[in-house]
Amino acid sequence: MAAAPGRVNLIGEHIDYSDGFVLPFAISDKTVVALARRSDRQIRIASMQKNADVYEISIDSLTPHKGENWARYALGVLWVLGIDAGVDLLIDGRVPLGAGLSSSAALECSIATAVNHLFDLKLSLAELARVSQKAENVYVGVPCGIMDQSVSLMAKAGSALLLDCRDLTSENIPFLIAPQGLELLIIDTQAHHKLVDGGYAERRASCEKAVATLGITSLRDISVADYAARQSELDPVTYIRGFHAVTEMRRVLDAVDALKNNNFIRLGELLNQSHRSLRDDYTVSCPELNLAVDTAIAQGALGARMVGGGFGGSAIALMKTEQVKRCESAISRAFSSAGYKSPRFFTSLPSEGAHVIAN
Ligand code: ADP
Ligand code: MG
Repeated sequence: MAAAPGRVNLIGEHIDYSDGFVLPFAISDKTVVALARRSDRQIRIASMQKNADVYEISIDSLTPHKGENWARYALGVLWVLGIDAGVDLLIDGRVPLGAGLSSSAALECSIATAVNHLFDLKLSLAELARVSQKAENVYVGVPCGIMDQSVSLMAKAGSALLLDCRDLTSENIPFLIAPQGLELLIIDTQAHHKLVDGGYAERRASCEKAVATLGITSLRDISVADYAARQSELDPVTYIRGFHAVTEMRRVLDAVDALKNNNFIRLGELLNQSHRSLRDDYTVSCPELNLAVDTAIAQGALGARMVGGGFGGSAIALMKTEQVKRCESAISRAFSSAGYKSPRFFTSLPSEGAHVIAN
C-alpha cells in the first residue's frame, strides 16, 4: 500500500510550464492505493470513489486515451513504467475530486510510489514525478505541468516546497502558520467553467509565443524590467500573459523571503498581488473565485487568491484562526446572495509527501 497527498499551491500559479519557481505544500488528505501482483497479464482496478466497480484490461492492451476516463490516471502510470505483469489495484482517495486540490496527482503518485516499491524499480522522487506527469499528459491527455506530482511526492510536514520546475531541485521552506495563530482556509467554489481546457492551452501557447518572439530560453530567464522594456516586440495579449509569468516568478521568491522572516503581512500582500495578476493580466479567474477572495479580504484575511488552473476550482485565504468560522459564513452568504452553488471549505496544515505504508 502507498499513500500520496493532494496539494495547495501557496504562490506561483501558471508558471510551472515556464520553468518557474512554485511554492506548494501537501495537504493532509491523501489517496491510498493497495497493489498486488497477479500471475496472469490482467490489470483489475477499482476505486472506492467510483462505486468500487472493477475495470479490467490486459497489460498488453494499454494504449493512451483508452479505457474509462478515471481509470486512465492509474493505467497511465503502469503504461509509462512499462510494468510487465498483471496487477490488482484498489484505490481510496480522500482528496476531493476536481476541487483544485490535485486528486489526479495524488492518484498517480500513490500508484507510482506503490509500483516503484513492489517492483523494486529504484526510481528517484523526481523520476516518479516525471512518470506521473507523463501519465497525465500522454495517457489521460491533460497537459498539466510538473508541480502537482512533485509536491505530492517530495513534500515534508511543516514545510512548503520551493520547487524549481526547470530541474526539479527543491528546498523545504518552513511554513509554520499554526504557532502564529494563522490558518489557511481553502474555499472550493464548486464552479467549473467550460473554458478550462481551451483556456489552459491558450495561456500556455501565449507564454511559448513570448519566449519564441523574444528569443529567450524561457520566461524564467528574463527579469521583470527587461521584459517590460521589450513590450513593443510583443502583441498586447502575448505581452500581458507573459507579464503575469515574470511577475509571478518574482512574487514566489519574495514569498520565500517573507516566510524566512516570519513576515505574514508581506506574504498576504503577495497573495493579493498574485490574485490580481491572475484575474486582470492572465484572465483565468471567474466571478465565483473573485467573490470568495474579495469576501475573505473584507473579513480581515491577510491575503487571498485563486489557486490552480482557474475558471473555477478553489481559492485560498490566509487569516487568523479565530476569523475562519466567520469568514466561512460570510462567503457562504455572499455565494447564496449571488445565486452561486454553496462553496465547500477545507483547512490543512502542510503535511508529508507520498510514502509506502508498511504491511
Ligand atoms: P483535481 O486534480 O484538481 O482533483 P482533475 O480533474 O485534474 O481535478 O482530476 C480529477 C479526476 O481524477 C477525477 O475526475 C477522476 O477521473 C480522477 N480521480 C482522482 N482521484 C480519484 C479516485 N480516488 N478514484 C477515481 N478517480 C479519481
Ligand atoms: Mg488534477
